[in-house]
Amino acid sequence: MKFELPVLPYAEDALQPVISKQTLEFHHGKHHLAYINKLNELVEGTPFKGETLEAMIKSAEGAIFNNASQAWNHTFYFETFSPKGGGIPQGALAESINKKWGDFETFCREFSDAAVSLFGSGWVWLVESKGRSLEIIKESNAGNPLREGHTPLLTFDVWEHAYYLDVQNRRADHIKGLWNIIDWNVVAGRMIKD
Ligand code: MN
Repeated sequence: MKFELPVLPYAEDALQPVISKQTLEFHHGKHHLAYINKLNELVEGTPFKGETLEAMIKSAEGAIFNNASQAWNHTFYFETFSPKGGGIPQGALAESINKKWGDFETFCREFSDAAVSLFGSGWVWLVESKGRSLEIIKESNAGNPLREGHTPLLTFDVWEHAYYLDVQNRRADHIKGLWNIIDWNVVAGRMIKD
């Protein structure tokens, strides 16, 4: 069975002005699609054919890892957002954030700093570790914290294709806007269950 591009959980213009319709058309409709199409080609005739993306992220190397991880990362990223997003986390997620960073504002500042300062292309992640504490992790290129056994909760894509059409080189401005479209219920739902 071939991997297919997941349908966005909102209209292409629903995240404006934070993410424009044009950016989503390219980012989802062309970049994300290209990783999936490429992966389908690459796994033909290899032991990875029929494996899950998660299995490939954990054990593949090179082009299969890169395309499997980019396919997974983009689905995870797009599913985080909602036109009704923003605000602050509640419940167990809020408690874990406060335990680690003291308050939500400090967490946001540290996460934004990590995203702005990541050199080149990559992803910044909020993860829950096996010890159940939260961590901010910077990954280059297609990097994915599943590989180290972490549970990803939130990610920002800092490849230029995520924001260049909207704010050109002003990555910090793009990052600032993303906080207004995060669906914290989705993020909280990714936490490790007791
Ligand atoms: Mn991307």
